[in-house]
Amino acid sequence: MSKKINIEKLVRKNILDLKPYSSARDEFSGAEGVFLDANENPFGSWNRYPDPYQKELKNEISKIKNTSSDSLFLGNGSDEVIDLLFRVFTNPGKDQALTFTPTYGMYEVAANINDAELLQISLDENFQVSIDENLKNTLQNSGLKLVFICSPNNPTGNLIQQEAVDFILGNFSGIVVVDEAYIDFADQESWISQLEKHPNLLVMQTFSKYWGMAGLRVGMAFSNPEIISLLNKVKPPYNISSLNQEAVLKTLKNASEINKQLELILKQRELVISALTDLEMVKKIYPTDANFLLAEVDNANELYDYLVNEKVIIRNRNSVVKNCVRITIGTPEENKKLIETLQKFE
Ligand SMILES: *Cc1c(COP(=O)(O)O)cnc(C)c1O
Repeated sequence: MSKKINIEKLVRKNILDLKPYSSARDEFSGAEGVFLDANENPFGSWNRYPDPYQKELKNEISKIKNTSSDSLFLGNGSDEVIDLLFRVFTNPGKDQALTFTPTYGMYEVAANINDAELLQISLDENFQVSIDENLKNTLQNSGLKLVFICSPNNPTGNLIQQEAVDFILGNFSGIVVVDEAYIDFADQESWISQLEKHPNLLVMQTFSKYWGMAGLRVGMAFSNPEIISLLNKVKPPYNISSLNQEAVLKTLKNASEINKQLELILKQRELVISALTDLEMVKKIYPTDANFLLAEVDNANELYDYLVNEKVIIRNRNSVVKNCVRITIGTPEENKKLIETLQKFE
């Protein structure tokens, strides 16, 4: 029951009309020759501009993710993808985006930077999206261009029910973004497998979490090639450095090592949950499908200050979910230190 979606109608007019910057590497992209076209210093080992479309890297990622290269965009972190989506689709001072709160803070920051109005609907008591009239009506808003669904959600840790994502896809003609930064820690298939069915679906993943490369700043967006080419049109030409492209390629060859780390992290997650459960001060641990957990404690501010003083840094989320802290699963040693420090506090 795929509905008719006109992507072009969703795009800001100035972006549709934009003639993108044509770099030296756009005009000639062969690997061999005498390169006197980009004003580079001819000496040195990082002297050449990188491939603006990261062809080799995208080739390898496409194999792992079972997609085609033209359905894939790479950004300077997912955060660049979020910003580009606003720049492509929301007219400043006019259009809107929708998020389900509490959620990842960058959607709101990007909306504010791009002067888009942010509509927010609260998740229910289980941190799920309520499928109701309010949601349905909100999705009919004529200026609403982007809906962000974070699954597993940050900071709550849970997957968003598939029925809710399907409902949004079925009732909205703008761009539906599913942010899957933590999907590798979850026991659920990626929405990438549904891209063929939904021309307005965009799935974000990242090398920052499961792949352990947050320092490199490489994020992925999977979507229909028309949306991907719009992101390519607006991005800075050389947004992923050669060094980073090479480093990610190298790690991709090490996929089995990363998978072992995943097994260890998931086991440690169980250990941390069980140790926290035994503590008096922990009132509730929310179910998690990610590499972190949200816990409600007696007094989040007090606990946070105490832990910082003991050089154990967690995230105080009291301002978004009352008396809740978000704890990332670390190495066995780090988790042990956390638990021992908490026991001392009690
Ligand atoms: C960490 C995180 C990201 C990743 O952002 P990068 O810019 O790729 O590091 C994206 N979305 C959510 C919800 C996150 O928590």
